[in-house]
Amino acid sequence: MNQEDVFRKLISHCKEYGFIFPSSEIYDGLSAVYDYGQNGAELKNNIKKYWWDSMVLLNEEVVGLDAAIFMHPMTWKASGHVDAFNDPLIDNKDSKKRYRADMLIEEKLAKYDDKISRDINKAKKRFGADFDEQQFVTTNPRVLANREKLDNLNKRFARAMNDSDLKELKQIIIDEEIACPVSGSKNWTDVRQFNLMFSTEMGSTAEGASTIYLRPETAQGIFVNYLNVQKTGRMKLPFGIAQIGKAFRNEIVARQFIFRMREFEQMEMQYFIRPGSELEFFENWKQRRMKWHKALGFNEDDYRFHDHDKLAHYANAATDIEFRFPFGFREVEGIHSRTDYDLGAHQKYSGKKIQYFDPEHNESYTPFVVETSIGLDRMFLQIVTAAYHEETLKKDDGKEDQRVVMKLPPALAPVKLAVLPLTKKDNLPEKARKIMYDLKFDFNCQYEEKDSIGRRYRRQDAIGTPYCITIDHQTLKDDTVTVRYRDSMEQERVSVESLRENIKEKVDITTLLKKL
Ligand code: ATP
Repeated sequence: MNQEDVFRKLISHCKEYGFIFPSSEIYDGLSAVYDYGQNGAELKNNIKKYWWDSMVLLNEEVVGLDAAIFMHPMTWKASGHVDAFNDPLIDNKDSKKRYRADMLIEEKLAKYDDKISRDINKAKKRFGADFDEQQFVTTNPRVLANREKLDNLNKRFARAMNDSDLKELKQIIIDEEIACPVSGSKNWTDVRQFNLMFSTEMGSTAEGASTIYLRPETAQGIFVNYLNVQKTGRMKLPFGIAQIGKAFRNEIVARQFIFRMREFEQMEMQYFIRPGSELEFFENWKQRRMKWHKALGFNEDDYRFHDHDKLAHYANAATDIEFRFPFGFREVEGIHSRTDYDLGAHQKYSGKKIQYFDPEHNESYTPFVVETSIGLDRMFLQIVTAAYHEETLKKDDGKEDQRVVMKLPPALAPVKLAVLPLTKKDNLPEKARKIMYDLKFDFNCQYEEKDSIGRRYRRQDAIGTPYCITIDHQTLKDDTVTVRYRDSMEQERVSVESLRENIKEKVDITTLLKKL
């Protein structure tokens, strides 16, 4: 099955099993806006808890914040979003489709990168154990040629983006012979800038109303509260402020399901430090954030860093943590060294002094910032992509059977335990309800009595429930149940008494936090 089919199946699976629905679907949905269903909301809350606890619980110098979505309009002037939060867009004259010029070029870069990886993989297979990758990439003519094209394009692209040179962006698209994926034509308009912020009016009459923006990132809520938190929390540098909240961007090209949405959630942490120490903290947070991702136990080869050649106007170092989605490696999280750009700008625009007195060095300065910024929805997509498995099973009668199983880390699974009475009679439902009542204070349980046990197991596999217990006639005699494990599908008989202890330990967020 090709990757596009896998992705299509994943999207319909997410809908069928109550993870994600198109927004206001009864009115045919709203483009690039989604709702989280009964299982999606649980999974999302668990991801938030994993992130929040890893920041605020595990680091005594990191504290939380919950700032409003609406902010004073001057905030966005100071941050540069009013003037520079633009995407370069280009239209294909034949298909009338609109694209982000930078994304068309990035896709071309990814194609060169893919070609190189394919050549390496082919050679790896051909030469087996004797393969020397270093030698191959430095001598193979095809790899060298593609590497050169990739590097040249990267440099040219970085220069054009840094200079906001729209003519040059168009020229790159022409020189690289980039065609519209829909019409196949290279008949392009000029490149134009498009501001991504949503605006609305605050105040009851249009006359007295002022234009305000829906925040396009959560970070500015942290910057404008820097002094409040530092003073009231008596925080000493280095310290961090973490926040989870909604952000809004009027994305031009909003495709690929929840990868790029117009309303989404971010989990951001700004770490305030002494100027000059930023590259050390940048490296430190880079490693720590990658560890956080890998602690989930998915395939380690599906993660990589992508250091930026083109830096945002405020950054002096930046990297992305990328994950291999069915449509290729893409950014899930950004780690940026933002210098004193934001605090400095707010100081200038507000006229308030935003400085820190450093008692150790006996001097005052505007702190520098290293930030970690991850999209909650994109992280959600990363997790369901990695967890989704289709398996072919051999049945007892020799025939084959299929199952779809979400191999979610137990600590993130929406339901931890399914409680299944074997039949609807003989007091089994009552016994099952009693067991469930005893456990439901500790973790999320789900009671199910409809259909055969086999079908109920399949439904639980599909939402990623790590444990199912079956209550049968023997349970009434000796207070034991059958536990069935999601991944191995093995079953074992255990006492009801041992359930809480055994399961709680394995489904708690601390199982993940202890790996960090
Ligand atoms: P991209 O290049 O994909 O547009 P970005 O570099 O603009 O992303 P940042 O501004 O660094 O993204 O935002 C931090 C994180 O927020 C991203 O790594 C991503 O996970 C998430 N994010 C950004 N835009 C969106 C969106 N439209 N939908 C969902 N998540 C998003």
